[in-house]
Amino acid sequence: MRGFGETVFAEMTRLATDTGAINLGQGFPDTDGPTSLLEGAARRIRDGGDSVNQYPPGLGRPELRAAVAADRSRRYGLDYDPSDEVYVTVGATGGIAAAVLSTVEPGDEVVLFEPMYDSYPAVIAMAGGVRRPVTLRPTGPAGRFTFDPEELRAAVGPRTRMIIVNSPHNPTGTVLTREELAVIADLCHEHDLIALTDEVYEHLTFDGAEHVPLAALPGMRERTITVSSVGKTFSVTAWKTGWVTGPRELVRAVRTVNQFLTFSANGALQLAIADALSDVSGEMGWVGQLRAALAGKRDRLSVGLRAAGFDVTHTQGTYFVMADIGPLGGTDGIEFARAMPREAGVAMVPAQVLYDRPTEARHLVRFAFCKRDEVLDAAIARLGEWS
Ligand code: PMP
Ligand code: GLN
Repeated sequence: MRGFGETVFAEMTRLATDTGAINLGQGFPDTDGPTSLLEGAARRIRDGGDSVNQYPPGLGRPELRAAVAADRSRRYGLDYDPSDEVYVTVGATGGIAAAVLSTVEPGDEVVLFEPMYDSYPAVIAMAGGVRRPVTLRPTGPAGRFTFDPEELRAAVGPRTRMIIVNSPHNPTGTVLTREELAVIADLCHEHDLIALTDEVYEHLTFDGAEHVPLAALPGMRERTITVSSVGKTFSVTAWKTGWVTGPRELVRAVRTVNQFLTFSANGALQLAIADALSDVSGEMGWVGQLRAALAGKRDRLSVGLRAAGFDVTHTQGTYFVMADIGPLGGTDGIEFARAMPREAGVAMVPAQVLYDRPTEARHLVRFAFCKRDEVLDAAIARLGEWS
């Protein structure tokens, strides 16, 4: 793990705390999830019974596995057997780690898109795998980030074992289209690859952008491990409860590894999450309001950042916008993001740390907009004064 220090999200949150800056770095909401979810969890923990406060089964509480299976079937037409094709993990992070450690052998190559979420390169390194990054670049007038199919094709070779896909994508906000996913799926078929897809922002898409799970493409269910979690969907990032869905052979492998990483995840919360996922009009309706609110916050922050002098690319989903510091005379995002909490009172994340080859991204920083409007306005005002 040489080369992996403190994560950028932890560093920027620490900087924000130390300087009293507004933290638009690490992506977490500053308002709570639905009250009924919070109260349901509290009530179940307090009432106890049904071993709710004891180790859950290693696979996860059956109630949550059934709720996840029903949700994927209802939403995407994807059927998973809750008895052995749904597996509850410690956040999506736990699922990603177990999925990579259970499938990637030392020397195997893993194709992934950069900028990349920071846990992917770390767990590939833990598995002894080799990264083959493919760069996402801004295209079109809105600057939507996407990949060049030829570059992707060139990254796949005889040692490639896995491809990691994240859509909606952190940090660029791209929601991959069915056509883009089909290019990935074709390569998986051609080279017999396993796909690992990180869909933690599956519900947080804007302006009608449709989230398509890679597993829903023809023939992909059998070779795709899908990871999602509750943190973003219900604004409870501290709950660290996620799930893996996939064909039973792959889920069995994930389970074999994960029973020695964490054995099981938090049991008491799983029951409340199961209720929330099953409450199609109530709490899932709440998620619809969250999505609409986030679209408004994206616009609010993007307008404010532009007024302060940044170039901002259009985000179709997630919590994040990417901004170019070039028009403000900035050239190095790391220096900029380290100086701004003290200079301007606002924290952000430099994008280049999420790249293996950051040449094209030195001038990019990421801002999180999952904050109360008054917090976004205060950050915009501070940036305006600074610029
Ligand atoms: N994947 C991506 C793309 C993320 O942005 C995050 C951050 N929350 C995670 C995974 C981790 O999710 P969890 O908190 O459920 O572990
Ligand atoms: N996913 C969040 C982000 O991208 C933070 C997660 C973390 O701190 N590890 O900001």
